[in-house]
Amino acid sequence: MRPVKFDPSPDPSADRAFLGLALAEARRAGEAAEVPVGAVVVRDGEVVATGRNRVRESGDPTAHAEVVAIRAAAARLGNYRLTGCDLYVTIEPCLMCAGAIVHARIRRLVYGAAEPKFGAVQSLIPLTTLGLPHRLAVASAETAPEAAAEAAREARDLLRSFFRARRRPTRPGDREGSSEGSSRSAGG
Ligand SMILES: [Zn+2]
Repeated sequence: MRPVKFDPSPDPSADRAFLGLALAEARRAGEAAEVPVGAVVVRDGEVVATGRNRVRESGDPTAHAEVVAIRAAAARLGNYRLTGCDLYVTIEPCLMCAGAIVHARIRRLVYGAAEPKFGAVQSLIPLTTLGLPHRLAVASAETAPEAAAEAAREARDLLRSFFRARRRPTRPGDREGSSEGSSRSAGG
């Protein structure tokens, strides 16, 4: 990928709307006791597919919101290349999802909150500077404050309240998810 760090949105109101849909998916994930992360694939201003984190439900460690949405979009379009598609996700993608995004040839990635522990777009790894053979435009709360900052706040709040609730053991010895450090490994 060539270094494309800043992609000012051609339409901030569209970004806000699609991030809103991704947030709705994140809420649904949280309601299903999954780490609340949601994603939407968009082409030509239309939603192609949505996805929410469902690692527990499907017993699949790769069922992060981005991968779920990308698989659904590829199935719907009948093409493993999602050329001309943009991906909106509530939280910065992890290493696996960043790889899937590149392999799918996603055109533009818009995400809400940065993920300091597992984020593989800017937090742990500066993805756009790696020289991968795909040009990906990235917009986040840091680079596109108008569209993404509000979504970032809400996405972060969802994660915080999710892990706060899980830190309260429902029975003695229930320590699962007791550390926020397990957040992204728990799927998102
Ligand atoms: Zn992921």
